[in-house]
This record gives sequence, C-alpha cells and structure tokens, in this order.
Amino acid sequence: MLSVVPTPVTVRVPSKVNLHLAVGDLRPDGYHDLHTVFQALSLYDEVSVVPAEQLAVHVRGTGADVVPTDSTNLAWRAAELMAERAARRPDVAITIDKGIPVAGGMAGGSADAAATLVALDALWGLGATRDDLAELAAELGSDVPFCLHGGTAIGTGRGEKLVPVLTRGTFHWVLALSKGGLSTPVVFRELDRLRAEGRPQRVGDADAVLSALGSGDAHELAPLLGNDLQAAALSLDPTLRRTLRAGIEAGALAGIVSGSGPTCAFLVEDQHAAVTVSAELAGAGVCRTVRVASGPVPGARVVTDTDPA
Ligand code: ATP
Repeated sequence: MLSVVPTPVTVRVPSKVNLHLAVGDLRPDGYHDLHTVFQALSLYDEVSVVPAEQLAVHVRGTGADVVPTDSTNLAWRAAELMAERAARRPDVAITIDKGIPVAGGMAGGSADAAATLVALDALWGLGATRDDLAELAAELGSDVPFCLHGGTAIGTGRGEKLVPVLTRGTFHWVLALSKGGLSTPVVFRELDRLRAEGRPQRVGDADAVLSALGSGDAHELAPLLGNDLQAAALSLDPTLRRTLRAGIEAGALAGIVSGSGPTCAFLVEDQHAAVTVSAELAGAGVCRTVRVASGPVPGARVVTDTDPA
C-alpha cells in the first residue's frame, strides 16, 4: 500500500518595530492604553504545520532553547483556538523556525500565533476571511493582529485595533540583538514605577510621524521616533545606552529601543548605509548580533504551494 507523506504548509511572518509608542497610565484592570505606530520588518519566523496524531510544537533557531513547547507557546494556543472554531481536533505538529529574537520586543511569539492561524486555515481549507482571522488574533494577544496585517499601521486599545497607514517607499533598519531578553510585563511595571517618581517624559501625538511616513523621507522620520517604554528598558538594562550611542556613532539617523526591548532598532538612510552601519555596529561589540532589515513588508503569508497536484 502507498503511504502518502502529508505536505506541510509553511507561513512566513514578519517582526515589528514601534515607530511611535505612547503608553497611557495603568488602568484598574492592569492594562495600559496604547497608541502606537507599528511597522512590519523583514526579519521573519517561519511556521510549518502538518497533520499529526496530536498537537505538538517544535522550535528551532536562535533562542529556541528558551521558547516553551507546551500550551504556553502562543502558536499552541492559536492552534487550539482555530480548532475550536472549526469544531475539530487540533491534530497538527507545528514547527517554528525562529529568526525573530526571543523576548526581544519584536513580537516573536505574537508572530508565531498569527502564522499558525494562517497556516491552519490553509491546511484545513477553512476559507476564513482576513476579518475572521483578525478577530481570532485579537483574542490571542495585542500584537497578534498586527503580525497578521503587516505593513504600517496605527494600533490603539491594547494595540489590537488597527488602522493602516499610507507610506511611501521603503525604510531601512539595522537591528542590534541583545544577549538577553526583557520581559514585557516587567518593563511595563518599571515604567509605572518611574512615572510614580515623576519621571520620565512622554512621547507626544503621532501626527508628525504619520506625515513623515507619507513623505517616505527617513531624515524627516528619524527625529520623530519615540517610545514611552524606552526609559523603562534602559533603566532595567543600562548597557542599552551604549548600544544606542554606538549605532549613532556608526552613522544611523536615529536609534530606538524596539517595543519593550532589548532589541535596538536604528533607522538608516538607505540600503548602502544599512550595510556600513551594521558592519561598524557589529565591530563595536555592544550586542549579540546585528541584522539588516527593511519595512514595511506584508503580514503572515503562506509560502508553500498548498496544492501539490
Ligand atoms: P512583544 O514584543 O510582543 O512584547 P517579545 O518579542 O518581547 O514580545 P516574545 O519573543 O514574544 O517577546 O517572547 C516573550 C516570551 O513569550 C518568551 O520569553 C517565551 O517564554 C514566551 N513565548 C511563548 N510563545 C512563544 C513563541 N512562539 N516564540 C517566542 N516566545 C514565546
């Protein structure tokens, strides 16, 4: 008898950087209102799904050893949610290839959840609309809808309510990946603590950022990048100051802590500058590794042919 080896469905999903991140005061329910401008960057995870006896998660790549492979992995939770909605068993094996730094402030876990939704929709032939998937994504976490959506978008609420932003051209980035990670809840708590002491200043509104994105001018955008979580990330990991300084000395137009950190994102003039800045930054010995990326790029997309016939 012929045994048929099932073809996996593979989805590529981008990371994100927050070009502007305004954090409101702590709400009674423990959350903070966010007003953010996300951009999806070409630093990707790949998530493959294949039919299996029972749900399992495997993780490969840098940092894989610290990523859970049980029900606390966001991809596992995405598979359970998708199966529940489709009224079927989550009988799949999920393999995650990490290209996005783990606990790096670039939404790695959220990206994997978004990718799992798209992959299972294709594997099970569900024909879900983007709106259906976005609704499930919002249930899984505040950054998951953006990882699905990609591009550049304003996020409000906890970051999950999205409005696309028109941008011109491509922006070029150099990313300094840190040796360790920072826990997002710990960074928010540190911000609350700093604010209780009367520090630090808050970013303003995002209007100027939106107009710079529309012009496509990296020089105009550079001085407008702002992140309310940066002071808290720097307070928890003061070595990041050195990284930010080294990026500017290497020729970046501006540097910012990405989300809750500790990845530092440097906006550079063009592709050529990305190569020279990344080489210099790598030589400065201020971070674990350096990556070049560009944005905006599309959200989670199937990259395999799901119909082998
Ligand atoms: P964000 O920018 O959304 O705040 P992050 O990029 O800083 O998140 P993640 O890479 O998502 O952080 O990891 C945060 C923690 O989530 C990890 O320490 C890990 O324990 C857990 N986690 C759960 N699922 C995943 C996953 N698929 N990939 C990475 N981490 C995961």
